[in-house]
Amino acid sequence: GDALLQADPEIAHLIDEETQRQSDGLELIASENFVSPAVMEAVGSTLTNKYAEGLPGKRYYGGCEVVDKIEQLAIDRLKQLFGADHANVQPHSGASANAAVFLAFLKPGDTFLGMDLSQGGHLTHGSPVNFSGLLYKAVSYGVTEDGIIDYEQMRAQAREHKPKMIIAGYSAYSRTIDWQAFADVAKEVGAIFMVDMAHFAGLAATGVYPSPVPFADVVTSTTHKTLRGPRGGIILCKAEHAKAIDKAMFPGMQGGPLEHVIAGKAVAFHEALQPSFTAYCGQVVENAQVLAKALMEYGYHIVSGGTDNHLMLVDLRSKGLTGKVAEKVLDEAGITVNKNTVPKETQSPFVTSGIRIGTPAVTTRGMGPDAMRQIAALIDRVLSAPEDGATIAAVKADVKALADSYPLYRSVARV
Ligand code: PLP
Repeated sequence: GDALLQADPEIAHLIDEETQRQSDGLELIASENFVSPAVMEAVGSTLTNKYAEGLPGKRYYGGCEVVDKIEQLAIDRLKQLFGADHANVQPHSGASANAAVFLAFLKPGDTFLGMDLSQGGHLTHGSPVNFSGLLYKAVSYGVTEDGIIDYEQMRAQAREHKPKMIIAGYSAYSRTIDWQAFADVAKEVGAIFMVDMAHFAGLAATGVYPSPVPFADVVTSTTHKTLRGPRGGIILCKAEHAKAIDKAMFPGMQGGPLEHVIAGKAVAFHEALQPSFTAYCGQVVENAQVLAKALMEYGYHIVSGGTDNHLMLVDLRSKGLTGKVAEKVLDEAGITVNKNTVPKETQSPFVTSGIRIGTPAVTTRGMGPDAMRQIAALIDRVLSAPEDGATIAAVKADVKALADSYPLYRSVARV
């Protein structure tokens, strides 16, 4: 409808502008995706009006009989998707889900072990500027020189510091993880084993990437990356931890759940249970592998020499470029990536020596291996002439032409 346009044309036009931006460019940010119109419809529904503190059947508000059914469907579908004992679908975000897990298992000041942010971990895995590093004692592990998780270091850190919790999972790592190795170390030192599968949840759900769910005490995720749902979080856990997790989520971390977003999650889980989603996830990984290979053929160094998932880290030092410059010039050409630290980083986190590239969003548009080889060529044209305005303009036109042949949200309403 046109309610927004009439009530607030300023915002309506800006939303159109953003839709057009998403449509015209090549979205290669590894943590982004495009939800289905069905997911968007659920998130933009009357459910946004409803308070529903508590859990289905155990609410602190009246009028919850409908949202109870919706949230229960979300829970049941999520458990089915991952073969999990227990699921909580209320986290407003990935960070919120992680905070609830800390609250469930640790006391302020307790020690935990996570992957260092500059080595591929997430802020919430112990960064000193995040609640995880501010309220708890964070110790960390990283990757070896060839970009693979340093399991020896992880084991040594666990033995030395006896953490209450060990976190595996990442925001910038492209290889499979030996879940058993982590589970064994956690068991040996008596730690809770938590996996943050935010990035690869869709791939793990479909068996395209090893699922951590059988190995971990608790698994958190965002719903908006490879899982292709609305922005939000989830927690899965073993039956024995169900009560502690639910209590930490509410009343521990949050107040009223976002039932409109939970409905969107339920729709996304339903979509993820279809065979077409398994095919999609397989294509995401194949596309990442084709793109990584093509970039290597253009002389780019890919950290660890390739990828097992939806993302890759490109070390730009051999090309004499920083991540900051590469991100900026690619953006000018309509190609969106983010700067990222690489192993043995020599630049500050604001500059970096690398970029992170991911294929979930372009694969949702229907792109396959041929398009990936075209994207590699477009990236190389820009990064080979980062100061040449004419090249950047020419690539931008080619980016738009490629994007236009894989239409996104066909009807941009008012632009
Ligand atoms: N965990 C990991 C591994 C992530 O990559 C991210 C997001 O980048 C998060 C948690 C946080 O998710 P959110 O941005 O929804 O708080």
